[in-house]
Amino acid sequence: MSNKYVLVLNCGSSSLKFAVIDAISGEDLLSGLSECFGLEDACIKWKTRVGQQESKHQESLGAFSAHTEAMAYIVDTILAAHPTLKQQILAVGHRVVHGGEQFSGSVIINDEVLQGIEACATLAPLHNPAHIIGILAAKVAFPQLAQIAVFDTAFHQTMPQKAFIYALPYQLYREHSIRRFGMHGTSHRYICQTAAKTLGIAVEDLNLISAHLGNGASVTAIKAGISVDTSMGMTPLEGVVMGTRCGDLDPSIIFYLVQNLGYSLKEVEDMMNKQSGLLGISELTNDCRGIEEGHANGHKGASLALDIFCYRLAKYIASYTVPLGRIDALVFTGGIGENSALIRQKVIELLSIFNFKLDRQRNLAARFGQQGQITADTGPVAMVIPTNEEWVIAQDALKLID
Ligand code: ADP
Repeated sequence: MSNKYVLVLNCGSSSLKFAVIDAISGEDLLSGLSECFGLEDACIKWKTRVGQQESKHQESLGAFSAHTEAMAYIVDTILAAHPTLKQQILAVGHRVVHGGEQFSGSVIINDEVLQGIEACATLAPLHNPAHIIGILAAKVAFPQLAQIAVFDTAFHQTMPQKAFIYALPYQLYREHSIRRFGMHGTSHRYICQTAAKTLGIAVEDLNLISAHLGNGASVTAIKAGISVDTSMGMTPLEGVVMGTRCGDLDPSIIFYLVQNLGYSLKEVEDMMNKQSGLLGISELTNDCRGIEEGHANGHKGASLALDIFCYRLAKYIASYTVPLGRIDALVFTGGIGENSALIRQKVIELLSIFNFKLDRQRNLAARFGQQGQITADTGPVAMVIPTNEEWVIAQDALKLID
C-alpha cells in the first residue's frame, strides 16, 4: 500500500506540536514540539525516524518567536531537509479544541469554517485563536494542500439534552449556547475504535467507559459507539480532579472567595485552572509521577491528592453505569492512564462492587506504551489503550480529501 502522509498540527497558546503521520499505518515519521512562544528561549525540538533509526534535534527559534516563525522553521528547515517526505504530504490536519454546536465532525477548512472556529473562541479563548494562527500559517506554507479541522468537542455532539443541559434557566442555552460540550473527543473516539477491534465487538454494539487521564482528564460514557455523557463541561474545568484544575465543585465557593475573601474573578479563574487539582491539594506538584513519589515517601499532601483523585474518578466511572447499563470495558488512557499502575489499581479496587478483579501482573505490564487487559479473565474487562489523537486526525484528513 502506498504511503499517505498527513502533516498534523496542534497549535496551543504558547506551543505548536507537529507530526508527519502515515494515515494508513499510524507511524509517525517526523514529530516535534516548538514551545516557549513569546519568550527569550523560544525553541523547537524534533525527531525523525527512518526504519528503526531515530534521530533527535533541538534548536533555538530566536527570542520572542511564535507560531509563524515555528511554521516557517518546520517548512523551510525541517521538512526542507526531507524533500521526499515533504513532497508526499497530502493534507494538513489541525487539532481544534472547540467546535461548539456548529461542528459535529471533521471538515475541510474554508472561510466559513474559519469563521466558525473564530466564533467558538469565546468558549476556548486560549486555544481557538492559536489554532487560527496555525491554520493561516499552514495555508501560506502549503497553499496547494487541503487543511482539515478535527474538533475535540465533535465526538460529544451525540450527547442527549439530559446530559448536556445545565439546570440553569433554559434561555441561557437557547440564547447563549451555555451547555456542556466535553473535550478530548478525538482521544475517546480513538479508544472506542481500538477497543472495538481489540474486543472483537462492532463499534455500533460497543458500550465503553473511556478514562482519558493526562494533565487534563475526562471520562466518557460511550453507548453503541457514540458519546452519551462526558465529564468535562462547557469548558475543561468541569469533571474529575486534574493536574491543576479542580473539576466539579460547589459554584458558591466562587461567590464566597470574591465576596468574603477579596479575590478578583480573574484570580479565582486562575486558581481553579492553574493552582488546584493534584497541585493544589498536595502543595507539591501537578505531575502524577511526583505525586506517586511523594506518596511513597510519606508526603501527606501527595497521599491525600492521590486518594481524592482516585475516589472522584471512581465515582464518575460508577455513575456512567446509569446511561450505559451494560459495560463491555473500562479503558484507561492518557499519560496517567497509560502509565500509573497505582492509580489504576486504586480505581479498580474502589469499583469492586462491579466485580472488577485486578490482575496485578497484567496491570504492571500495561505501561509505557503497552496495550493490555489489566483485570482477570473472570469478571468485567478493564484495559489500557495508549491513545493516538494524531493518527485519528491524519485518518480524518485522508478520508476528507479522498
Ligand atoms: P497532556 O494532557 O498534557 O497531554 P499527558 O497525557 O502527557 O498530558 O499526561 C501527563 C501526565 O501523565 C502527568 O501527570 C505525568 O506525571 C503522567 N505520567 C507520565 N508518565 C507517568 C508514569 N510513568 N507514571 C505515572 N504518571 C505518569
